[in-house]
Amino acid sequence: MIDFTFTEEQEMFRKAAREFAETEVAKYVPEMEETSKVPEGLLKALGEAEMLAITIPELYGGLELGYTARLIALEEIARVSVATAMMLQVFALGIEPIVKFGTDEQKQKYLPGLASGKLLATAAVTEATGGSDPSGIRTSYRKEGDDYIVNGRKCFITNAHIASTLTILAKNEENPKEFCAFIVEQGMQGFKATHEEHKVGFRGCNTGELAFENLRIPKENLLGQEGKGMRVTMSAIGDVGRGGMVGCALGLQTACLEASIKFANERILYGKPIAKLPAIQDKIAEMKIDLEAGRLLGYRAASLQDSGTGASNEFAVAKYFTTEAAMKAAKIAVDVHGGYGCMEEYAVTRYYRDAAVLGPSAGTSAIMKVIVARWTLA
Ligand SMILES: Cc1cc2nc3c(=O)[nH]c(=O)nc-3n(C[C@H](O)[C@H](O)[C@H](O)COP(=O)(O)OP(=O)(O)OC[C@H]3O[C@@H](n4cnc5c(N)ncnc54)[C@H](O)[C@@H]3O)c2cc1C
Repeated sequence: MIDFTFTEEQEMFRKAAREFAETEVAKYVPEMEETSKVPEGLLKALGEAEMLAITIPELYGGLELGYTARLIALEEIARVSVATAMMLQVFALGIEPIVKFGTDEQKQKYLPGLASGKLLATAAVTEATGGSDPSGIRTSYRKEGDDYIVNGRKCFITNAHIASTLTILAKNEENPKEFCAFIVEQGMQGFKATHEEHKVGFRGCNTGELAFENLRIPKENLLGQEGKGMRVTMSAIGDVGRGGMVGCALGLQTACLEASIKFANERILYGKPIAKLPAIQDKIAEMKIDLEAGRLLGYRAASLQDSGTGASNEFAVAKYFTTEAAMKAAKIAVDVHGGYGCMEEYAVTRYYRDAAVLGPSAGTSAIMKVIVARWTLA
């Protein structure tokens, strides 16, 4: 028998995450939409609720609840604010390489602060010359005594301006086949967060560019083996990055469905709620089917990851399906609302904009298909 039920502990965690999202996160949404800035109070609330500690081992101050719990938290938070869920998902993306590849000294130095929210993380891989093709990055390192000197620029980095602890990927200046992953601290000389992006959605979730100008990184901050940094960053993106986007997408699908049900029950046409119209029922059913299928894919992948087998391929399937389904759900939700779906006082307009941003983060749908095809044909 396959058991598809959540444990009692997971159900309790979902309830707590939902309550946190509806009371603590929801109140910041209007401000985030208006200013596109990350509210200080929201970061404090995420830290106090231990939302950053979920995947960190207990030994280093974390909750060690695993990836299914993380997916539950992200789904519940994204249902209220995808921008907040995205922020949180990338904190974990920056934390994961330290958990998986860090030395004990690195773990002791960074993880307790990252678990409490005193330190905030990100992972910086993408550059103008390398998004889908990370080997195309130009940020380079060279050795100088015991230190590494790094030069280059990163773009589209979530949490760029708020992160204090960054996992970055750089290429050997002399051998373009060798990469190193480093932990960079915000105050290091030669490090700067520069341009801030203005995105169509995820407003209030910071995205921007980073510049490294003769950034001196001590050897103690090398993550994993020298020359093997691609594995360090890509394994985090494969499991935690893709998995996180699944949580964002599932939450958004749920929000679209709930808003559509509410509107369809309240909007009266021909003397009865539009929920009685077969065409509207068809749209609601489409959304529900996609949500049910997406949740099965996502939680199966998270559960595999919790069992220690790794689930980057299963997450590629789930990421493809749920982000595409979230875009479809947002379009349907706007349609169900008729003309009201174009008016900003209706949350579906935000869902529509947020859905557009889900696609590229942690790899586009086309790249997910490349991964799934490689897995299937192997
Ligand atoms: C909101 C947001 C947050 C992000 N946060 C981060 C972050 O925190 N850290 C980070 O490092 N990066 C981050 N990214 C970057 C993200 O990972 C890249 O945008 C993504 O990998 C795509 O790269 P690109 O934008 O350079 O597009 P490109 O790689 O230039 O792709 C352009 C087009 O070509 C297609 N394409 C490329 N290769 C193939 C192929 N082999 N087969 C078929 N089609 C292909 C793509 O699907 C796409 O349609 C973020 C992006 C966004 C939008």
